Amino acid sequence: MGMVTDPGYEPVIGLEIHAQLRTRTKLFCGCLADFGAAPNTRLCPVCMGLPGALPTLNRQAVALAVRAALGLGCRIGARSVFTRKHYFYPDLPKGYQITQGDFPLGTDGTVHLAAGMDSSVLERVIRVERLHLEEDTGKSVHHAEYGLVDLNRAGIPLIEIVTLPDLRSSQEASDCLGEIRNVLMRLEVCDGNMEEGSLRCDVNISVRKSSGELGSRVEVKNLNSFRFIRRAIGYEQARQAEILRSGGQVQPETRGWNEREGKTYTLRSKVSSNDYRMVDEPDLLPLDLSRDWVRKQQAQLPELPYQTRKRYASLGLSRDMVITLHSQKWLMDLFDEVMELGLEPSGIANFLATEVLRDAGQGAPIRAWQVGELMGLVAEGTISGKQMKELYGWVKSTDESPRQVAVERGLRCVADESTVFLVCERVVTSNAQMVHKYRQGKKGLMGYFMAEVMKQTQGSADPRVATAILQRMLEEEQV
Ligand SMILES: [Zn+2]
Repeated sequence: MGMVTDPGYEPVIGLEIHAQLRTRTKLFCGCLADFGAAPNTRLCPVCMGLPGALPTLNRQAVALAVRAALGLGCRIGARSVFTRKHYFYPDLPKGYQITQGDFPLGTDGTVHLAAGMDSSVLERVIRVERLHLEEDTGKSVHHAEYGLVDLNRAGIPLIEIVTLPDLRSSQEASDCLGEIRNVLMRLEVCDGNMEEGSLRCDVNISVRKSSGELGSRVEVKNLNSFRFIRRAIGYEQARQAEILRSGGQVQPETRGWNEREGKTYTLRSKVSSNDYRMVDEPDLLPLDLSRDWVRKQQAQLPELPYQTRKRYASLGLSRDMVITLHSQKWLMDLFDEVMELGLEPSGIANFLATEVLRDAGQGAPIRAWQVGELMGLVAEGTISGKQMKELYGWVKSTDESPRQVAVERGLRCVADESTVFLVCERVVTSNAQMVHKYRQGKKGLMGYFMAEVMKQTQGSADPRVATAILQRMLEEEQV
């Protein structure tokens, strides 16, 4: 099958995202919700679905789910109801999953994509249809001649976030998942770890002739990386366009993704929601959240990623810089703290996004006050930019003062004007042709002379002093 995307067919994409809430215990029992325990060691009668065992709702899970819903701009339902969704899986011991149907926790939310952030184009807003609470299932492990079931995950608290089909490209879909992940991590409701399955994504995709009606929808299940999502959508887009172009009809079905072959494949034909025999869960009361409590949760929300982007863009930072800075909380916090010292934003941003980010693990390798001192030393001309990088290497992951270390190690610019003067003189006299060109108007050659001076002083000349001397020599034609 040709994999060239037909420009005549536009993809229409919606996401269903499952995120594991950061609770200590499961949704309806006291079993631990930790990752990596030996198989079937986190079980009790409730999560094993033994007859007569009764679920008790985890208060912390509700609080985290409400926080997520509010962070995504959802309306919180006055009353949300738990539902039994029946289906058979070896890893679903009860024969049904407790989820929410017609009365979910949250509805009508938004995801802000950073598209066109610092141009006049507004951020693109993707609509969230609903957010609800549900329990995870266990895990089947398939071997050649037998299968095993691990029920540790059965009953782990999840939120499912469903977007409307507002997405129009594989990149946009991957950006949307990225933004939702960013929001959930900022809110500290989910650790965002896709390898451990804390965040998983199903993609609904159909294609249509631009402005035509919606085609049949295909769901691609369990995409757990951004790359898989982009590739699976690209593949589906081409596959469906090809079927339509040759006069066929796309079958509504659920498909899986084979990363090795780079193809989707049929898992099962689409079941209608009637087949699930959804009934209200008789063992749990509807969730009545007090308005006051919800308002309090709303007031406790941190700044959301799109708000941070707006704030950073207003400081004059470039789009890429804004995206880099706000993608990790420690980086953002460090930047904000250094900003309070009254330094120039783009200088700090550059230093953090290059030098500091490069050797950071999970957290900041340097404190705000140390960054402040480093940048101060450069700003006042005590050390050069190159020396600052060296000094940073010495003080990172320590509590030492950059100012003190600079003194101890004798780190100084060759501020002594006579030394710099001699070097400049040497550079100017040995480059007569360049000097001639400069004097004929090629002012850009200043960079060349500066580079020569820096080379000959091993980068330790104070750039301001050197520039001033070079300018004098070149303009006044006195050499
Ligand atoms: Zn349990």
